[in-house]
Amino acid sequence: MVGIVIVSHSANLAIGVQELASQMVQGDVKIALAAGIDDPENPLGTDAMKVHQAIASVYSDDGVVVLMDLGSAVMSAEMALEFLPEEQRDKVKLCEAPIVEGTIAAVVQAANGANIDRVLMEARGALAAKIAHLSSVIGDLSLVNSEVEATNEQRQISKQIHLTIQNQMGLHARPAAKFVAAASRFDCDITVQNVSNHSEWVNGKSINQLLILAVHQGNEIAIAAVGADAERALATLQQLVESNFGEKTTALAINSAFTSPYSSLLAPSALHGIPTSPGIAIGKAFLYQPLPVEVTEQQVEDPQAEWQQLETAIQIAHREIEEIRQAASAQTSEEEAAIFDAHLLFLEDPTFLSAVRQRIFDYGLNAAAAWKIVIDRIVRTYKNLKDPYLQARSADVRDVGQRVLRLLSGVTFSLLDLPEPKILIASDLTPSEITQLNPKKVLGICTARGSATSHSGILAKSFGIPAVMGLGTELLKLENDTLIALNGESGQVWLNPNEAEIDQLNTQINHQLAIQEESKILASQPAITRDGKKLTIMANIGGIGDAKLAVAAGAEGIGLLRSEFLYMDRMTPLTEEEQVEIYHAIAEIISPHPLIIRTLDIGGDKPLSYLNLSPENNPFLGWRGIRFLLDNPDLLKTQLRAILRVSATYKTKILLPMITSIREVRAVKEILADVRTELQLADILFDENIEIGITIEVPSAAIMADKLATEVDFFSIGTNDLSQYVMASDRTNPKVAKLANVFEPAVLRTIAQTVQAAHHTGIKVAVCGELASFPEAAPILVGLGVDELSMVSPAIPAVKAAIAKLTMEEAEAIANIILNLDSGEAVKNYLTN
Ligand code: PEP
Ligand code: MG
Repeated sequence: MVGIVIVSHSANLAIGVQELASQMVQGDVKIALAAGIDDPENPLGTDAMKVHQAIASVYSDDGVVVLMDLGSAVMSAEMALEFLPEEQRDKVKLCEAPIVEGTIAAVVQAANGANIDRVLMEARGALAAKIAHLSSVIGDLSLVNSEVEATNEQRQISKQIHLTIQNQMGLHARPAAKFVAAASRFDCDITVQNVSNHSEWVNGKSINQLLILAVHQGNEIAIAAVGADAERALATLQQLVESNFGEKTTALAINSAFTSPYSSLLAPSALHGIPTSPGIAIGKAFLYQPLPVEVTEQQVEDPQAEWQQLETAIQIAHREIEEIRQAASAQTSEEEAAIFDAHLLFLEDPTFLSAVRQRIFDYGLNAAAAWKIVIDRIVRTYKNLKDPYLQARSADVRDVGQRVLRLLSGVTFSLLDLPEPKILIASDLTPSEITQLNPKKVLGICTARGSATSHSGILAKSFGIPAVMGLGTELLKLENDTLIALNGESGQVWLNPNEAEIDQLNTQINHQLAIQEESKILASQPAITRDGKKLTIMANIGGIGDAKLAVAAGAEGIGLLRSEFLYMDRMTPLTEEEQVEIYHAIAEIISPHPLIIRTLDIGGDKPLSYLNLSPENNPFLGWRGIRFLLDNPDLLKTQLRAILRVSATYKTKILLPMITSIREVRAVKEILADVRTELQLADILFDENIEIGITIEVPSAAIMADKLATEVDFFSIGTNDLSQYVMASDRTNPKVAKLANVFEPAVLRTIAQTVQAAHHTGIKVAVCGELASFPEAAPILVGLGVDELSMVSPAIPAVKAAIAKLTMEEAEAIANIILNLDSGEAVKNYLTN
């Protein structure tokens, strides 16, 4: 049986703890005390020799757990270990648990015959029940938020102002967020009370505490400030309140009935969103809620490390929410986007963070458990409020909390396996969530928000799942199993479509299926024009999941692996080994065809939260693609090493994104040469003739294509970016996205010029942008002489079919005419009529 030693400054305390612990168990547990010192004048203290003797008295091979109060008790216990024979020392453990709770937990376990690890674990976790029981948000947060208490007295002498809240919704999430943001700019302590319901004073820099005050329209609040800049702070806050936080004021609601801004709206019958992935789908709605992340409570040795991990996760979550906010403001309204300001403030809430910190540092809890305990408590508090609007905020806090927990635990998805095919409804879906979908079970996708990066859209397309995104929060009011239909090409969504609508949509679906069936026959055949010119048709993928679809669709290689997708939903970049494993798996799937890996293309619309890319005014003209990689050569080197290693076994090529100058190509080639030498010195095999290509997606690269062609082995034209740069219009900004029309003759002429320059030097050209996936674009691309097309897999059969209908002569004639048309619309009309 494990023995227990209690070390305390006070003999009385030790006897009391022993008495308490012994009462909890039946039977004897070996407990020894080493408490107080033999000085009648001054009996409080600890003595290492006494500790040693106590340990020896209860020692057995099962081990001894020593619990101490504080200060010299710890040092005496450490010293006592030194006196022990070496073979015993390892079996005696000093336990950092609090002396009363820890001793009781340890004694109970020892009495049950538990081994020393179990006894220690129980003792360390002894505070958990108390933490769970005692903490309520206000109590809990004010416990750690001593400044609120401390200012109570000072508040008497502080300056206070009393204001009436005029906003229709009261101090709801958006104005509360503005209040906290304004208050946080000042050093003084700011506390707030809802005078109308005689609430407690709460921290004015805490979004949670402010919301929980439940301030309604017409309520009077008191704001007190203590500190050097108190007057200025109060003036600022007064102005903010008096300007109604920039919101329109409406008459006082009768009876103060306080409802959610959305609750009075009836579910609409049709919605319109961003067309994302083509195809029509009809089915029952399945409202996707990510499963909550499971967290295990643990006692940790290094609280500082836990805290740092949590801080990193919070930072990443912060950036992710900023990205969603940006997209929401571009795609919906600023009002809707502003709700995310409150989400951001949840992550910054000082009282909330102190409560979490306390659990990590004082109670030794792991970061995830500490975070979850506090989040759960806040969620419960919101849910228990009478106000329905505030009750609804519990979902916001839960979302933010889960986002951080997912990052902490590395859980990147939690999709339920749908029992039957349905239409997936979600607030948003991350790329990793999409890649986990079973395309057979998901008829279509509708999301409330468009993805910030539209990667989810690209992936939905690549999986052949019809999708409409950016439908707004209205969508989330749908009930499970509501009948819904969507057209991924027009962006239309029907809620409870009537019979006539269903019939019409079914006709379109049947037509769609007939075309698919017809083109499936062609999928396995090469793409050859009627007069014998063969084009290589490859697939664009984001990971292992869609590599398999590529093979099934008849791809003759992977023309573009967007490697950045693999780097998403993580807290750190991929290691070399991780990359080798993934590239290897993909190369094996596509073998004997080649795998073209594009090096990390981040920045612009594709931020990676953990890389500390600060927001830029013009992200598309900023630090992205190869520019970022050349400034972070370690990332590039790791990736090049991984690609080269895989090239020893499988046909692999390197593709460099966002090349704007010859200088950049040469710089990468120098780094590649170093990597090759390193591998050679380490006797690691690789393909000595590995090909290196560049994407042509920036006008300067197209203009300099003749020079660039002499530097590399192939070109791959990225028409998505090329069109936005040629047309000077941001492809993610709905106000100008239309301008970035890839059918504009300016874009097509740039492609023509690039192909000519490449062929003049004797290198091949692929098109890997969206344009390659449009069957109607096949005559132009074939006519311009493009050698390879790379596209989302579901598009392959139809493009092969389009090529098989052409002769080179016809295609060249069409390309010639089109290059001389004067607008994108004219080109489209010509091709479709
Ligand atoms: C492109 O720009 O056309 C391209 C293929 O790259 P991405 O869409 O990933 O930027
Ligand atoms: Mg691009």
